[in-house]
Amino acid sequence: MDQRIDSRAPRTVQRSSLQLRPGGHFSDVNLSSVLFTQRLDDPKHVRLQVWSAPGRTKPSFEEAIKQKFKDAKKGDSFGPSCGGAHSKSRHLNSHLGTNHWWKVTVNIPADWEKYERVQFEFDPGCEAMIFTTDGNPVQAITGGYGGDRRVEYIIPPEARKAGVHEFVIESSCNGMFGVPWNGDTIAPPDMNRYFSLASADLVVPNQEAWRLLWDFQTLRQIVDTLPGNSALQNKALVAANQIMNVFKHDDAESIPRARKVAEAVFGEEWEKKGERVYEVGDEKEVKVWAIGHCHIDTAWLWPYSVTQQKVARSWATQLDLMDRYPEHRFCASSAQQYKWLEQLYPQLFERLKAKIASGQFHIIGGSWVENDANMPSGEALARQFIFGQRYFQSRFGKRCNTAWLPDSFGLTGALPQLIRGAGMDYFFTQKLSWNNINVFPHSTFNWIGLDGTQTLCHMTPVDTYTAQATVGDVRKATTNHKNLESTDTALLVFGNGDGGGGPLAPMLENLRRIRATANNSRDITPVSMGHTVEEFFEDLAKHTRQGATLPNWHGELYLEFHRGTYTSHGSIKKGKRKSEILLRDVEHVATLASMVKEDYLYPKKRIDDAWEKVLLNQFHDVLPGSAIGMVYEDAEKLYTEIAREGKSILEEAFGVLLEKSVHLNEPPKATSKGRLVAVNTVCAPRREVVQVPLGGPAASRLRSELVQVAKDGKSGYALMDASQGSGVAFATGMFADISPAAAGRYDGGFFLKNSNIEMKIEDGRIVSLVDLELGRELIPQGQTGGLVIFEDRPAYWDAWDTEIYSLETPTYLKFANIKVAETGPMRASLRAEVKIGSATSFSVTISLDAIPATLKKNSRSFVRFDAEVDWHQRHEFLKFEIPLNIKNDNATFETQFGFVSRPTHKNTTLDMAKFEVPGHKYADLSEYGYGVAILSESKYGFAASGNVLRISLLRAATGPDAEQDQGFHKFSWAVAPHLGHFLESDIPIAAYLFNSPLHLRHVPDSAAGGNVASLLRKAPFIVENAPNVHLETIKRGDDDTFSQNSKTARSIVLRLYEAYGGHARASLRITSQLQISKASLVNLLEEELEVLEKCTNKDESDEDTVLTIDFRGFQVVTVKLVLDSAKGMKRYKPSLMNHGILAQVFGEERCLGKNKDTDSDDGGYTCPEMHRPQRQHTPTVVQTIRRFCFKDSCSTPTHRRIGTLSLDAALESEAAGVLHHFFRREGRRIVRGGLAHPEGRRSRSRREYT
Ligand SMILES: [Zn+2]
Repeated sequence: MDQRIDSRAPRTVQRSSLQLRPGGHFSDVNLSSVLFTQRLDDPKHVRLQVWSAPGRTKPSFEEAIKQKFKDAKKGDSFGPSCGGAHSKSRHLNSHLGTNHWWKVTVNIPADWEKYERVQFEFDPGCEAMIFTTDGNPVQAITGGYGGDRRVEYIIPPEARKAGVHEFVIESSCNGMFGVPWNGDTIAPPDMNRYFSLASADLVVPNQEAWRLLWDFQTLRQIVDTLPGNSALQNKALVAANQIMNVFKHDDAESIPRARKVAEAVFGEEWEKKGERVYEVGDEKEVKVWAIGHCHIDTAWLWPYSVTQQKVARSWATQLDLMDRYPEHRFCASSAQQYKWLEQLYPQLFERLKAKIASGQFHIIGGSWVENDANMPSGEALARQFIFGQRYFQSRFGKRCNTAWLPDSFGLTGALPQLIRGAGMDYFFTQKLSWNNINVFPHSTFNWIGLDGTQTLCHMTPVDTYTAQATVGDVRKATTNHKNLESTDTALLVFGNGDGGGGPLAPMLENLRRIRATANNSRDITPVSMGHTVEEFFEDLAKHTRQGATLPNWHGELYLEFHRGTYTSHGSIKKGKRKSEILLRDVEHVATLASMVKEDYLYPKKRIDDAWEKVLLNQFHDVLPGSAIGMVYEDAEKLYTEIAREGKSILEEAFGVLLEKSVHLNEPPKATSKGRLVAVNTVCAPRREVVQVPLGGPAASRLRSELVQVAKDGKSGYALMDASQGSGVAFATGMFADISPAAAGRYDGGFFLKNSNIEMKIEDGRIVSLVDLELGRELIPQGQTGGLVIFEDRPAYWDAWDTEIYSLETPTYLKFANIKVAETGPMRASLRAEVKIGSATSFSVTISLDAIPATLKKNSRSFVRFDAEVDWHQRHEFLKFEIPLNIKNDNATFETQFGFVSRPTHKNTTLDMAKFEVPGHKYADLSEYGYGVAILSESKYGFAASGNVLRISLLRAATGPDAEQDQGFHKFSWAVAPHLGHFLESDIPIAAYLFNSPLHLRHVPDSAAGGNVASLLRKAPFIVENAPNVHLETIKRGDDDTFSQNSKTARSIVLRLYEAYGGHARASLRITSQLQISKASLVNLLEEELEVLEKCTNKDESDEDTVLTIDFRGFQVVTVKLVLDSAKGMKRYKPSLMNHGILAQVFGEERCLGKNKDTDSDDGGYTCPEMHRPQRQHTPTVVQTIRRFCFKDSCSTPTHRRIGTLSLDAALESEAAGVLHHFFRREGRRIVRGGLAHPEGRRSRSRREYT
């Protein structure tokens, strides 16, 4: 024992003098001086040729290799990071850096045969990939001197024998973290950075010297990390010190002697065991399960196209490491990244498949990308897993069992249910370690979702998914573990990441030494290798009695950080919301079309392609708005493609369902007469005011269907009625119990008013919002509502964060230059401007319709705000807020497939942290008896602070996108008062309708009636007896085959969910037109869980199928209907069908292809108000009558009257007239005082108002 270290002070000196690492003051005499035995860079031994791809193109290997290469040499500079305009490329267009291809030939001296290893050292200062000459990617290069440096390529033994070796390198002008300006990670990219080729050398590494270096580094980590009074720490210090004494740079024999010293800590002959070092000792003692990983952000400080290269580079490197370190296991998520590899690097993909099959490379996560988990819709989150798992199954014959979102900025309480529904049991994250207010209290726990579903969750105590596999990391797995009372195991997820990379050989070397040390000392926790993440979780489940001994966490995992990401890059959020809704409509309409017409093929591939784009753009740095500007060019392009494709599929499907109809986004060009038809893709009855463009040859006819023509005459307002829940709505008149909406001036201000709501604006602020039916003022005395802007200067993460102190700097903005735009009767509106700064312009239309938000009894109208903004603020945050005469400690925010309650107060720091929260289509503040919601059609940031409800509209960060949100925006929101608490309100459906406009179409008279497909006339799927259950999705089964002569059974898949948090027993009524051979409950992957009993008669019956489905609160249920392959869609004699259904749903003048004036009669049902005897009802009419009229719940006089009649009597008698009235309403509005004729009123109304 050395005499100098017998007291603490000298030991400290000793520790700080451990200088064996490369570099530093003593590099000429320390280990760095002997790490390489040979080094050659002359043209005789290294021949380099280069070809630079033009602009920002990213040619394939095959394209690049054909080009004319020119001689190059070490020291050459190349670039720039972001060259000129990008030209045609097979990839996504935006590419960060220029790409440079190198042909390399090395001549290896014959006498190098004696060395253990020969390497080519290539350091371009940026990222690169080595290929064989036939285009097989071999491994990555990461240049520069960061912790992720990997510049060596090991020359294969056969090449050494041959003495010559040729290969190809593609270098890309970006680093692991893109090319940030001045090296500040989140600064926008430096568009003009050049790199220089620092090294292109043929070298012989002194392998023993490197091993000594790794020995020393492990010892040093033990010295630096373990407590100073531990035996192991002291032993390591002694050994490290002694190694320094033994090592002599000019004596090669000193290296093995020095290495021998390290065995005092690692154990005698430890290295001979190789990977079997992990087999020593009792496996039960293992507490830290290490798994290699490489977090590759699918886009962030680089665009998608760079990620495609990063995936290939990072994973190729791992395959190489697996060959050299058999214990190495590596997991990678994101089906999209695998798909890119499959498409762009097929040879590498085949090697990857082999490593997946051999169990070394692990698929994980089960999702399409590592998505944001705050903002995607419920269905989109489900699709992340569905598309991910289906991809993994199809390519690798297996699925993932662990969901994996280590870096997403908050995790919705909807996830556990979706994770389990997609066939996974476990969940891994760590992001809550980033909380900036409270420390999250658990590491391992049961995560209980909003519906009560549990998943076993591990948030690694190492607090990172990019651990460097150091002694400190291993130690932290225990010392930072918050649930040691229940379990003491933890995952160590190691490898460079965010920009890719993954584990390096030195990390694997370090872990071997750490395990070797643990095999000899109890002062360090044993770490294990060679397992899957699933095995870790299975072990955890086994030792915690399937989680029974673990703590529970209920509801969302709210990240107390990155709260600005609900708002940053508004157009991306809007593109996402619109795309999700478009694809829902596309699937719904295409499904119906595929049932109606046999030669219409459901465009599954086109729909899936569009979904994949939606899912890709939901990546956790794209959707949150935290990527560089270039990423948003790509994202916007994808949204444009989705919109184009979605609309084209819709048009084709409408061509089947509404023959010859045209959309009415602009005035119809057709000269033929026609009428308005609106398709309702929401599975709920509705009545809505729509704006109709006027002009063109059809204008006068269209005008006759309007209740109100806009002041400018260019458009008008029609009231579209689908109150029976049918798939189509026709224009109707004002109903008797609706009093017109009005707008105007009064002394001191402006007002908007209808029969139930009045809003007043004075001095540019909302001063009054009154529920007229109750006479209740909703705005507190002395407070006002309107726009408000805050300073927004977060501590560092600009696009990500808005901080609590921002709320201390409000500036209240005024509506100025207010003008009355429309005066009713259907729609009344005010137009105003708002002054914000000197460059921004903001105009807003504030509207109130005559009708209430929904058809629910006592529903109130909402006040709608449509804004157009040319935004040029910097570091400011625009919001809209409304103070309310409502008191509640909690407010309600929509989340995926349900809602979440959050505090309105700041009692604790946990409450305080939620000063800005994510929400979807609504945020609501309610008390007993009354509430007010804000509805949103594209915004996701909300706050409920005391009695003030707020929606966040626009931010203006400058990093990493200097131009974030600058420019034009168009968005809407609404203030929706409602009678009763939120739980008794119609807000979920009102918000749904607010987001899902009717599809307005013009149908020529020549085809009217007869061309409306029966599946549209009567909604094919209706949820009854459960107003809290929503039918979200209608689509074709994922496993159907979609080809012209397919003989396989067709299926329809429906997804429903309970939206209010309570139980329900819903009846799902399926139209008798669809012949269902089997109905079953399935999971998200459409695998059968339970066969449902159908309540229907066999074969000849015309009965609808009714399925009874029980729900628990917030439960998501997927139903698969297999259609009778022989029949599928039952066909009716068209004339009967048309007459009956049309009459029933729309009234006489919509009946068959005839107008009142032509008065032809081809034998169908004739409307009672025409006073003709009806002759024949189709079975569907009978069914509908039965359904609407003979329910137990009938309470109005009319209902009761119908209810007392037998069905036959009702059909045969004058009660048919009553029935018609009954059909026309939802039971409450029209039938006031008996049998008044709604059509009469309508005609009057129309004369009166137009
Ligand atoms: Zn990430």
